[in-house]
Amino acid sequence: MPIQTLPDTLIDQIAAGEVVERPASAVKELIENALDAGATRIDVELEEGGMRLIRIRDDGSGIPADELALALSRHATSKIASLDDLEQVTTMGFRGEALPSMASVSHFAIVSRPASQAHAMRIESDGGKLQAAQPAQHPPGTTIEVRDLFYNVPARRRFLKAERTEFGHIEELLRAFALARMDIELRVTHNGKQVRSYRASGSDDERLRRLGEALGADFPAQSLALAHDGAGLRLSGWVGLPTTARSQADQQYFFVNRRLVRDRVVTHAVRQAYADVLYHGRHPAYVLFLDIDPVRVDVNVHPAKTEVRFRDSRLVHDFLFRSLHQALAGARAGAAGGEAL
Ligand code: ADP
Ligand code: MG
Repeated sequence: MPIQTLPDTLIDQIAAGEVVERPASAVKELIENALDAGATRIDVELEEGGMRLIRIRDDGSGIPADELALALSRHATSKIASLDDLEQVTTMGFRGEALPSMASVSHFAIVSRPASQAHAMRIESDGGKLQAAQPAQHPPGTTIEVRDLFYNVPARRRFLKAERTEFGHIEELLRAFALARMDIELRVTHNGKQVRSYRASGSDDERLRRLGEALGADFPAQSLALAHDGAGLRLSGWVGLPTTARSQADQQYFFVNRRLVRDRVVTHAVRQAYADVLYHGRHPAYVLFLDIDPVRVDVNVHPAKTEVRFRDSRLVHDFLFRSLHQALAGARAGAAGGEAL
């Protein structure tokens, strides 16, 4: 075959392989977009573990009618405009890949209305083929619908698992968002039934309640709140007492600027801090937020952005270790005073 440039739709479908692995990855991208749009309330509607339908509605800024089609084209984003912006990005998204990728492998629709626009517009795409925009009804904000994910990519569709498994991945993801952004109301329905409803939480009490709703009542009852500042970093959140340690590392939430990340530097620092209070083979439970100047961390490591690179990883490691060690040392001292550890 001679060398030839691939058609745009095929390029999007190839990119979709990286951005959207399964329904949960689509949900992740859509929620991140809603958060970037300043939503205060997000409704997630799912059918058949998201394989049949994912519909996400937000009350955010909306997409102006004349930008709707653009939102579905590759590398189109309202979030960065230069390399400079990329180096200090504060939004969850910035690659302009999610919508065109999802649209190319599903029956896709956006209905959106900025508050300043008299009515909403709806645009649809079938496997990347864009239809003309139509006027529609919608309160200020955006609803995005992804139906029949991978309907036109049989090889991908075959890799999807049972409804329960796919729904499980989505639930886990939504739990992380519910923890990351306690200020936002989040409701979830699956096959017509409401399965989750998190109220927006501002006060300490409300946050504790939400923590319990996400992780079970044991966790807030047996964890320590912490907040440490130093070296221009801030670590806050909750660390589980050794009694909450688990046989699996399945309650470990670490957010860098509210983005859930899996990072070796972080895991190592946490494990070291727990070393003398945990039995070998037990895993601590924690919900921790690291706030760091965006220029000190690179989030553009992988399309899914679950990996980060700290510019000064040694300093971050030591700050985490010291903050956690100190918090847990406080727990040991408290235990001596009669509190259960
Ligand atoms: P990115 O988030 O990287 O910019 P996306 O493909 O996810 O790329 O979205 C493309 C653009 O569409 C965004 O930059 C944003 O301007 C707009 N957009 C997407 N979802 C929403 C939403 N829920 N509310 C408002 N604007 C949105
Ligand atoms: Mg996005």
